[in-house]
Amino acid sequence: MSSRTYTSTSADANSSALTDLNAEERSRILAKAALFSPPSATLSDGRRDLVGLSRDELTDILTEIGEKPFRTKQLWHWIYHQGVTDFSRMSTIAKPLQQKLAERFIIGRPEAATVQTSSDETRKFLFRFRDGQEAETVYIPDRREDRGAVCISSQVGCTLSCTFCHTGTQKLVRNLGAAEIVSQFMAARDSYGEWPSPKGETPRLLSTIVLMGMGEPLYNYENVAKAMKIIMDGEGIGLSRRRITLSTSGVVPLMDRCGDELGINLAVSLHAVRNDLRDEIVPLNRKYPIEEVLAACRRYPAASNARRITFEYIMLRGINDSEADARELVRLISGIPAKVNLIPFNPWPGSDYKPSTREQQNRFAEIVMSAGFASPIRTPRGRDILAACGQLKTASERARASSVPVSE
Ligand code: SAH
Ligand code: SF4
Repeated sequence: MSSRTYTSTSADANSSALTDLNAEERSRILAKAALFSPPSATLSDGRRDLVGLSRDELTDILTEIGEKPFRTKQLWHWIYHQGVTDFSRMSTIAKPLQQKLAERFIIGRPEAATVQTSSDETRKFLFRFRDGQEAETVYIPDRREDRGAVCISSQVGCTLSCTFCHTGTQKLVRNLGAAEIVSQFMAARDSYGEWPSPKGETPRLLSTIVLMGMGEPLYNYENVAKAMKIIMDGEGIGLSRRRITLSTSGVVPLMDRCGDELGINLAVSLHAVRNDLRDEIVPLNRKYPIEEVLAACRRYPAASNARRITFEYIMLRGINDSEADARELVRLISGIPAKVNLIPFNPWPGSDYKPSTREQQNRFAEIVMSAGFASPIRTPRGRDILAACGQLKTASERARASSVPVSE
């Protein structure tokens, strides 16, 4: 872990107060997240899922059954590089040990309750986990190339209630565990037969990860971080940190940590340039207002001109899409190595916003672009199967009666 203290780099007199506040806030968020823990990794028959363990944990578990530490490397290779789920296919491991492992462990995958493929080839999976809870994962192929992005969920539901988001209408049921986060990606790969992990220059279909599915990943930081470390491990799946983007609605105290420990790309759901409007449409703004979110972006350790921060900006007709809004946006983000993703609002049943008109989107994009920021208008993908941004929602119900939302 890095020894950096999570403080503002601006030399203002309040910076140590900010550090204390952030440290306190961070512990509070992590403690609340623990209330929504995923179920145990052990099945009713006593076998344990090996997916989602760190290398050290895997070594410990193998030591407990009398196996030497070098087995970790072997198993890691079979699980995360070859993608096997059956111990009998681990040809470098002798039969008796294969059997011993199979008696005690499994290499789990969530059940794909439904798989839908859109007319534009986007594929949405509804994965069901061991306790019956469900979350959605979407594979979005790149139209011009033989690759694409896997959009992964971090929670079942979300504690935040952004007014334009379908997931936000579903209360937080629970956090997803590291195993459940990693295995969404692994199961998506199973679906495309993309094992073993392509190495080096070999093109891979599932080549990037965006943590933009259901939930707020920074409210489930520990599990998300553990999962990303597993996915980035060079002897397994081996995705580079440059190919992973975490999207947050602005959980300031954990943004620095994400940059320091994981070094992955950051996307920030800004959506408004004035606090009064952002308070309303992204309610987390009442806790971490625009200035604080942008300050955290300015000090984000993994940002540079080569690796810009993405500001996501949903285009809501007549609400946040004026030319004055575009000019203010440019003023706010000036100096940040950034690009702006303009996302036309994707409707969902019961929503009453409208997407901005095409002309308005273009006018807005033009202003942002002439200020020197790339400002692509995101083409909605998979709308016909409700797989586009903000359309994800499952029928999972909140099981516990008296849980405290993480955001309170
Ligand atoms: N909770 C995180 C990540 C998941 S949401 C976050 O909010 O950033 C992923 C992205 O989809 C966010 O930018 C979110 O604002 C956007 N989004 C939500 N609802 C949407 C909708 N109906 N149409 C288009 N984009 C939406
Ligand atoms: Fe949660 Fe993100 Fe949806 Fe807001 S936009 S409700 S933070 S998933």
